[in-house]
Amino acid sequence: MTDSIHASERIAHLRKQIEHHSSLYYIEARPELSDYEFDKLLEQLIALERQFPDLVTPDSPSLRVGGAITKEFVSVIHREPMLSLSNTYSLGEVEEFYNRVKKLIALEGVDEQEMVAELKFDGVAISLLYRDGLLVRGATRGDGVQGDDITVNIRTIPTVPLKIGDVGEIEVRGEVFMRKEDFEQLNESRPEEERFANPRNATAGTLKLQDSAEVARRRMSFVAYYLKGIRDESTAHFSRLKLLEELGFSTGNYYQLCRELNDINEFIAEWSEKRWKLPYETDGVVLKLNAVTLWDKLGATAKSPRWAIAYKYPAQQARTVLIAVVFQVGRLGTITPVAELEPVLLAGSTVSRSTLHNFDEIQRLGIMVHDRVIIEKSGEVIPKVISVVLEERPSDALPIVIPSNCPECGTPLSRPEGEVSYYCPNEEECPAQIRGRLLHFASRNAMDIKSLGKALVDQLVAIKLVKDVGDLYFLQEPQLENLERMGRKSAQNLVRALDESRAKSYERLLYALGIRHVGRATARELSQACPSLDALMQASEEELSTVPDIGPVVARSICDYFAKPSVPDFFEKLNAAGLQLSALESAAQINRNFEGLTVLFTGGLDRHDRQTASELVMERGGRVVNSVSKKTGLIVAGHDPGSKLDKALKLGVRVVSEDEFEAML
Ligand SMILES: [Zn+2]
Repeated sequence: MTDSIHASERIAHLRKQIEHHSSLYYIEARPELSDYEFDKLLEQLIALERQFPDLVTPDSPSLRVGGAITKEFVSVIHREPMLSLSNTYSLGEVEEFYNRVKKLIALEGVDEQEMVAELKFDGVAISLLYRDGLLVRGATRGDGVQGDDITVNIRTIPTVPLKIGDVGEIEVRGEVFMRKEDFEQLNESRPEEERFANPRNATAGTLKLQDSAEVARRRMSFVAYYLKGIRDESTAHFSRLKLLEELGFSTGNYYQLCRELNDINEFIAEWSEKRWKLPYETDGVVLKLNAVTLWDKLGATAKSPRWAIAYKYPAQQARTVLIAVVFQVGRLGTITPVAELEPVLLAGSTVSRSTLHNFDEIQRLGIMVHDRVIIEKSGEVIPKVISVVLEERPSDALPIVIPSNCPECGTPLSRPEGEVSYYCPNEEECPAQIRGRLLHFASRNAMDIKSLGKALVDQLVAIKLVKDVGDLYFLQEPQLENLERMGRKSAQNLVRALDESRAKSYERLLYALGIRHVGRATARELSQACPSLDALMQASEEELSTVPDIGPVVARSICDYFAKPSVPDFFEKLNAAGLQLSALESAAQINRNFEGLTVLFTGGLDRHDRQTASELVMERGGRVVNSVSKKTGLIVAGHDPGSKLDKALKLGVRVVSEDEFEAML
């Protein structure tokens, strides 16, 4: 009983902390905790809730990590249809819309026409229902009348408040989207052939997933733009947006009250360039009549409301010259033609390179070196060549020749039947593939070794100091010190970073190996189905095919990887390097350095907040106390320590600095 009371206090405390830090991170963009520290808080909450399931509530931030698997989403009928706005690419039509609204409101006896201009997020519309201050339902737009109940997935989106002040029953609508950075990370963690074309596609695909834990990992965002149902409701859309912010929603911040057509045009012009600097994609400006009371009076056509319109920015294009085509060799040997362009300003940045994808694309475009080309940036993060100005083809135009040999190692290229790409088959020796594997291994979603950057990898491979990722772990500081741009400090940092990466989980290691078709999600499934590299090596193609999410192509690719003659030696090297070759070792990776030790903190700490520091001690078997006694085994003294330090010194308790404490961890 007392346990449960204690737990409920602890749970309440953790939830409050998590909500606070989550809001600092996601809404105010000024985090105070590192991702690691934040995850630790969440892990503690989840562990406690698992122990006391009665204490789980529908607003607990633990629901944000997902976990529920949905077989089929239930259909829901929207309380009022979610109409889509009519779209236009023309400023002339914006003016027509403005004048049409003017006439309609004049019929209602209103002559002052205020409009709200909002940036249009390029995402997926959803509807949220709150009752007694709690999120009770999140649904897709569907056909506008009927959508899917995807509450479990919606709850994982950090910027969707699970709890707001009790304002009765309200509906909030808005857009789920993916920030460019999160989108790139998601794509990077997926096998090449499964990558999403743009953040909007990724968002739409993610919302429909039946595994909410995977939804949570993909880190989507939400902006609110519509509020309905508040008692003594504000009658202006602009103040409703403000109210949404007060309730804890993000509105994206960029909206403006426009009193004249000119204000609207200025807003549109201002954001046509500025929007490229935003960390997410926007594709236009939405204009809504500010007077909400008039919305019903103006009504809607069959498809769209008459009181709003969406202006969409035309895709941004630029003209430039194709200077040359270079051929890049990827980590899996794929040859990608890359266009080198005369630098040109497009969508807020200078573009001098663009991928041509593959040779079919070159043929489809009919492109030649020295051609004048049109490049475009629309929903995509990377610009692409969309056409050739054939009538201006110069006399010195040259055909693009598909190389017959690898530009890196000279091996004749091959093109597997039915594939659009050429490959360098020299997997083991091709320097480009070795470099690609090393960089993938060190990338953030893999082993996360920040000090192993591109320039260093280039050098290590060029002087043959490293041939595979296993070699990294046997590098010595003296070997590294004399490399270009390295020096002693950097050499130490790299060796330390590599050392720390030894503790990375088996699941991460599986992903980091860079097996074709094995992205992060597949690595996770694999690590559960085959909890060690030995088990994985012995699994047959048929057995692998029974693992969720693993089809015959992936199973084949995994077997091919393990069948390579170099693999046993390579794994022996990884083993000698001390990497986590099984799930079991990963679980036991936290040490017990504080077993039986009673620790007290005094003064300010720089690296961790007090809470986290205490947790680090407890995870390692220690206890944390708040007052000094003879039983206190260790004092960690930060800056400006208080009277506790004096007392401890008198009692002869061992005192360490924060740096020493860090080393003990
Ligand atoms: Zn090659």
